[in-house]
Amino acid sequence: MTTPRRVFIKTYGCQMNVYDSERMMDVLRPAGFAPADAPESADLIILNTCHIREKAAEKVYSELGRLRMLKDEREKSGRKTAIAVAGCVAQAEGEAIIARAPVVDFVFGPQSAAELPGLVARLDAGERGMVATDFPADDKFDALGEKSAPAPQVPVTAFLAVQEGCDKFCSFCVVPYTRGAEYSRPAERILREARLLAEKGAREITLLGQNVNAWHGEGTDGRTWTLARLLEALAEIDGLARLRFTTSHPNDMEDDLIAAFGRNDKLMPYLHLPVQSGSDAILKAMNRKHTAADYLRLVEKIRKAREDIALSGDFIVGFPGESEEDFAATMRLVEEADYAQAYSFKYSPRPGTPAAEHADQVAEEVKTARLARLQALLSRQQEDFNARFSGKVMDILLEKPGRYPGQLVGRSPWLQAVHVDAQGRRIGGIVTVRVEKTGKNSLSAHIMDKEAAQG
Ligand code: SAM
Ligand code: SF4
Repeated sequence: MTTPRRVFIKTYGCQMNVYDSERMMDVLRPAGFAPADAPESADLIILNTCHIREKAAEKVYSELGRLRMLKDEREKSGRKTAIAVAGCVAQAEGEAIIARAPVVDFVFGPQSAAELPGLVARLDAGERGMVATDFPADDKFDALGEKSAPAPQVPVTAFLAVQEGCDKFCSFCVVPYTRGAEYSRPAERILREARLLAEKGAREITLLGQNVNAWHGEGTDGRTWTLARLLEALAEIDGLARLRFTTSHPNDMEDDLIAAFGRNDKLMPYLHLPVQSGSDAILKAMNRKHTAADYLRLVEKIRKAREDIALSGDFIVGFPGESEEDFAATMRLVEEADYAQAYSFKYSPRPGTPAAEHADQVAEEVKTARLARLQALLSRQQEDFNARFSGKVMDILLEKPGRYPGQLVGRSPWLQAVHVDAQGRRIGGIVTVRVEKTGKNSLSAHIMDKEAAQG
């Protein structure tokens, strides 16, 4: 048997990239690759990149600088190293990456991962500088094939891409350009992949999509299914205990999906529903196509269906033309919506997007000051949300080892990390705990069922 070549994939950005990296590994295994623990021991290094903000893209170039030295070092001892750039920076910049960082052997976009074995074969034949950034007519997920059998085990909490791309064209966002048009995978494929994940040990699945709640497709009964109907079918899979989905757009939050939070026992009470801004003028300029009041009404409706829902969101501060008054409206919306957790960013002009051309860019120091104020408020809300669970009893899914021996990290239904004392072999189990301590980022708890703790 020949020894496998080693590949190291470094993933930047969103969960969709994490999923894509797993799929790259799936197509590389049959081509004779095994995962490397570190770039130092890899024959092939892939950077799966994110283009959503400038900082994210710049990180890639500094990493490529470090990898150039690593490649030189390895070559001195007669070991060849190939370097590839994948993901959204690859899609957006293509050949320009190789021009700026000649250490890169080839580049491929998010829709071209299935071409990876072919690109490696061309590299082996002596070719360099390949760029694969077309949007193929075929379904990317089909081209990647079924989640292949060789993957030894999947994590207890797995991701499953159900939708990709976006047609909404928010004026700040590169996704419609880097990921292409909105596409929903057929229900049957999703169910098959979910069954496979469950057979290999997944207890929780998070459905992924840039606008996951826009998912729709032909169901196994020949009818058009919505995401709520798909979640019902997924709930019937043996072994799967928990379902989640992310990220949702407010305008696609249909009534049946809202109702699912009250009806589908396996659907966890957590919803990531970005609003970006609380100012109607800014929302309009962002092309979000809803108002702040629409969003707050929607949140109220969701809380009626599931009172304890943990609400999460995304915010952009310093969008072009954002006045102090606009920002104050965002702070008011946050006060009213009351988030369990949220992500917030300084607006970053992305080449090729309409907002980047705006004359009215906000000064960097203003963005920094506003972000600090918003993050202080969001942090306080997160801490308060967690504090409400002090002394409460809940079921957690034991997910992975903790930082200390004898400690495991579990997930609450509301996606909080929960630290408990328990043996490693309990990973994958759901146990009942009582919360002892709460903090901003996690909870500590003890397992109420003694057998589970020791067993
Ligand atoms: N589809 C989701 C939605 O519509 O809310 C979000 C997808 S986007 C990949 C993730 C987040 O990145 C956005 O919600 C937004 O807050 C942030 N983002 C996107 N473009 C940005 C930009 N140019 N500057 C700063 N943040 C940005
Ligand atoms: Fe980007 Fe989301 Fe807007 Fe689509 S809906 S353009 S992914 S922010």
